[in-house]
Amino acid sequence: MDLSRRDVMMAAGGLAALTLPGADVRAQPGRKLGYAIVGLGGYGLGKIIPEFANCTHSRLAGVVSGDRAKAERVAAEHNLPARSIYSYDNFDRIADNPDIDIVYVCLPNAMHAAYTIRAAKAGKHVLCEKPMAISVAESEAMIAACKAANRKLMIGYRCHFEATNLEAMRRARAGEIGKLRYFRSEHAYPQGDPSQWRLKRALSGGGSLMDYGIYALQAARYMTGEEPIAVYAHESTDRSDPRFHEVEDQIEFQLEFPSGVIGSCLSGYSANQNHVLLLGDKARIEMEPATGYAGHRLWVGNRRDTEITPRPGPGKTQWAGQLDHLAHCVIEDREPIVSGEEGLRDMRIIEAIYRSARERTRVVLA
Ligand code: NDP
Repeated sequence: MDLSRRDVMMAAGGLAALTLPGADVRAQPGRKLGYAIVGLGGYGLGKIIPEFANCTHSRLAGVVSGDRAKAERVAAEHNLPARSIYSYDNFDRIADNPDIDIVYVCLPNAMHAAYTIRAAKAGKHVLCEKPMAISVAESEAMIAACKAANRKLMIGYRCHFEATNLEAMRRARAGEIGKLRYFRSEHAYPQGDPSQWRLKRALSGGGSLMDYGIYALQAARYMTGEEPIAVYAHESTDRSDPRFHEVEDQIEFQLEFPSGVIGSCLSGYSANQNHVLLLGDKARIEMEPATGYAGHRLWVGNRRDTEITPRPGPGKTQWAGQLDHLAHCVIEDREPIVSGEEGLRDMRIIEAIYRSARERTRVVLA
């Protein structure tokens, strides 16, 4: 921290300078920031924890789980001390653990708000998985809690760190396909076990849109660089299918953008597709698979004539880029590029999409 900044902080609030995000980290140059993973499931354990091996500024420093034996096994595999293993009941004691700078919430959607707020109150920065919560009200409470605690809040929108998506965004913004006219994306995968939390409204907050359609919505916003001004949605769900007693299967939504771009998105839990198409008045940008874990392909031009090899992304992998980005933001006291406010924007649109489908009407966004 430079002197002038410190002087301003001291003048503004005395001790405030001592609680600046990252002030403690800046005092220990070279130290990797410690993450605690909350929820050792498919994503937290299967995907995120192995990615610390690809990180430069982040490391695993704690685990939070309802399954003590699993947590102990993971901790042993990663040389974590017993004091860095937490349950959901004693999670708040994480406040006393200086090894942990950031809490990464990898829980069912309906638990995101509670654990983000508890983490912020414990003085930790937060990376929270998508969707950031199950309502606008919860999302606003999460942002407020992190602000009040002077902690960073980032949402796990990994595509912002993925090379192919970054290349596609860059080319769209540079005007390579001319004036943007139309965006289309389908995000669908077949759901299995009807008893899983993703199909229970109380834990998921909704069906395919909360889980996978959010990628189409995100892509519509980051590929066009615009915010939709109205939505129109239509749902089609076979309610006799045991998977869909509580949540939607297919939901199609149209987005109206201020420039006149039309967005057309499909979200589903009973088909298989991962695709983004952006049409300009000169050419098109297409990605398929667009937002997956691997194997992304990108074409720019007319139809699929020219396949592009993207420039490298910011990290060895999209996950390492994401984890290290928040670490950087903490160290440098910057806002993450996918902040809580970015998650809130999606939640506002998601609520409007559900309302439009329910009321069969076009919903104007504020
Ligand atoms: P899983 O079901 O695989 O894991 C969730 C974990 O949460 C469980 O293993 C459990 O961990 C913990 N948990 C605590 N309470 C409950 C409960 N009542 N029911 C079920 N699990 C509970 O889910 P995922 O890991 O696939 O998803 C977690 C989050 O990550 C979701 O918000 C999802 O949207 C997001 N996600 C993001 C992806 C991305 O690419 N960005 C990809 C996949 C998921 P424990 O046993 O340790 O207590």
